[in-house]
Amino acid sequence: MSRPTCGDAPIFRLRLFRGRRHTPASGGTRLHIREDPFSAFPLVTGPWTHFHSVPPAGFEPAHTASGGGLPSRHRRRPRGCAEKHLQTYTDPRGPGAFRTYDWQGDPERLSQLGCLAPALLSVRIGYKQVVPLFHPDGPGAEVLHSMEAVLANEACATADFLDVTLDPLMGPWSLVDRALVATGEAGGTGLPDFKAVAVTKILHRKRPNLVPIFDSSIYQFYLGQKPVPGAYKDTPRRLWPLLQADLRRHQGWIQNLIVPIRTPDERPLSLLRAADIIIWGHTASGCAA
Ligand SMILES: [Zn+2]
Repeated sequence: MSRPTCGDAPIFRLRLFRGRRHTPASGGTRLHIREDPFSAFPLVTGPWTHFHSVPPAGFEPAHTASGGGLPSRHRRRPRGCAEKHLQTYTDPRGPGAFRTYDWQGDPERLSQLGCLAPALLSVRIGYKQVVPLFHPDGPGAEVLHSMEAVLANEACATADFLDVTLDPLMGPWSLVDRALVATGEAGGTGLPDFKAVAVTKILHRKRPNLVPIFDSSIYQFYLGQKPVPGAYKDTPRRLWPLLQADLRRHQGWIQNLIVPIRTPDERPLSLLRAADIIIWGHTASGCAA
């Protein structure tokens, strides 16, 4: 299994060896959980099948709640298979990237090799995308500096995605948003082939409780369609509020599932990574079909 990403356009071939992405994050337990059997990890089936042939899966797809999707009677709840997806992905002998991607490294620094980490989550990234990041100036340097600004910010070090105000103009989230926007500056071109998917998969390792992973599977689950290739700025901005609201609602039972899971470097699995692993695993494995 491999994990399709927004950056990987036509994808069948890549998926054969990519899909290994599963890892959750540990979130807090600040909100009360509403145990709603009709919303916990519903699985949408039917007309959502796109050319990727995977129906959206995961928590509560917003498009079903907003009237744009299927009525609840057509959904079944993938909550029952969430633990299986977590186990599969975190299996030390499994095909998932858990034992390769989920190392935080130096939380204060983005290394050259660390910027290649999205490759472990099926992003097509290589020297062409990473070398410009370390130029002394230019669009690549701008993107790197914007990502480094997230690591340098004191508030970002402790901020949690579930609590953060998703304001692109102020607060810790504004720095994350700024990094996503920077990838597309210069008339929307910015850094070619390096957009939201790569930025989030780089920053998530360093700030696993603040920066969610932007991925086509997650996006499709919540919005009912694939994001545009090379998404940045407004496209990821559509996902964040939906993801945040859903995780606030379901964090209780997800947190219970991930309590015993430790990353390869002995950290708790973050709630954000757990959600990513479950939703991705659910869609990629075909168990939603
Ligand atoms: Zn499943």
